[in-house]
Amino acid sequence: MKRRSFFQILLGSSIASRFLPFSIVAAEPSVAQQGLSTPPPTGPFTLPPLPYASNALEPYIDAETMTLHHDKHHAAYVNNLNKAIAPYPDLQKKSLEELLGNLDAVPAEIRTTVRNNAGGHSNHSILWKTLSNPGRKPEGKLAKEIDNTFGSYEKWREEMTKCAMGIFGSGWAWFGRSKDGRLFIEPFPNQDSPLMTGRTPIYGIDVWEHAYYLKHQNRRADYVKSCVESVGSFS
Ligand code: MN
Repeated sequence: MKRRSFFQILLGSSIASRFLPFSIVAAEPSVAQQGLSTPPPTGPFTLPPLPYASNALEPYIDAETMTLHHDKHHAAYVNNLNKAIAPYPDLQKKSLEELLGNLDAVPAEIRTTVRNNAGGHSNHSILWKTLSNPGRKPEGKLAKEIDNTFGSYEKWREEMTKCAMGIFGSGWAWFGRSKDGRLFIEPFPNQDSPLMTGRTPIYGIDVWEHAYYLKHQNRRADYVKSCVESVGSFS
């Protein structure tokens, strides 16, 4: 009979996970740790600069959250995407829309990584452009379409809030346009993007905790209200 060490037995038992110090159990290296040991390639995708100062959305979104969100989280999506496609010259020539719009064309071994990180890069690139202080109501044709589709801009705000509050865990509430031209509001898990189904994202609310936890902690409703009523800006 094969002898098992005390630790093997302990680690295999359900009791172990409750009583052992966490450091004994081997953990996967975090993305940040992996990044430290191997510098990621610098392209083809690059982190777009924030189009305003990191404190521009105060008091709704604090400067520290903005800096971490852009400089660390968004940067990690860009770096991880570049790293994943580094061995694939054909993929490096594709746009985010092309990558996300046809994930079946991405080799299976990197498909999930591309889905998550191309999605994260695309979602955040749109996010920075659709925030301002004060926020701006859509005007013209889009305003009319919102009235026709949702009843009014107020109703649109209610729908966005309901969608963002209904997401369990990490994800986005996206407002966008379908291929047939119709407007939609829909929840997306993780970093999934409307681009994955050939639709056009217009404005999204990022409900990952990294987007609001420093300032709002568990009060997602306060953060969503800020997004919808104070800093959301698109046309
Ligand atoms: Mn985010």
